[in-house]
Parts: sequence; C-alpha cells; structure tokens
Amino acid sequence: MVLSVIEVSSTSRQQFIDITDRVEGVVNKSGVKNGVCFLYVPHTTAGITINENADPSVVTDIIETLERVIPLDGRYRHLEGNAHAHIKSSILGHSACVLIEDGRLMLGTWQGVFLCEFDGPRRRKVLVKIIEEKV
Ligand code: ZN
Repeated sequence: MVLSVIEVSSTSRQQFIDITDRVEGVVNKSGVKNGVCFLYVPHTTAGITINENADPSVVTDIIETLERVIPLDGRYRHLEGNAHAHIKSSILGHSACVLIEDGRLMLGTWQGVFLCEFDGPRRRKVLVKIIEEKV
C-alpha cells in the first residue's frame, strides 16, 4: 500500500492529459495482481475523470461544453480570476477508482484516465494508492 505520485505538467489553460499509461506503470511496479487503484488529485482547479481516449474529440467536447456552461469570464465572486476552474474541478471531482484484475486495470475498451486541467499551465500531482485484495 505504497503511495505513488504521478507528476503532470499541463501546457494550456484548459487541457485533459491522458495518464492511463502512467497509472498502468504504477500498477505494474506495485506487483499487485488483484485489488483497487485509487487516484486522488490534491488541487482545487484541476480534477480527474475516466472517459474515451480513442477519439480526442471527446475530451475536446467535454472541455467546450463545460466552457459554455461555466465560462472563463462569467460573473463570479472569487477575484483570483479562476472561479470557473474551481467550479469545473468540483463538478468533475478529485478522485477515481479502477479495479485491478490479473495485474491489469479493468478499464473499458475505450476508457482512459485523464488529469483535467482548468487553470494551467501548471505542474500537477496525481496521488495513487494501490490496495491489494486479501483473500
Ligand atoms: Zn482561485
């Protein structure tokens, strides 16, 4: 049950970064064959989600739809200029959980894990805890 940290550098203000390969790398390194991979993003203007990583238009659609609903230049009370990012972060959430079977993440065929940047470019962390199943 070692804590791993995946460090991610975003390059744009709003961007979804596919970290699936890196999460798989943490699982492989852990040697855990069956259990749970818990992912946590300790930031207030970034989030994490699982969605399609085959067609990049999907994440673009998510970013653009969130932007229509929660625009960068909306009327907000938070004066730091990133209120939209705080709201989007809370909507998408800060954690994700994927089952591990036979040493592999049980993601669906089209699923990938994304760090969701809403106030980049920044350096972000994704905390990963692998919990082994005890039978
Ligand atoms: Zn802020």
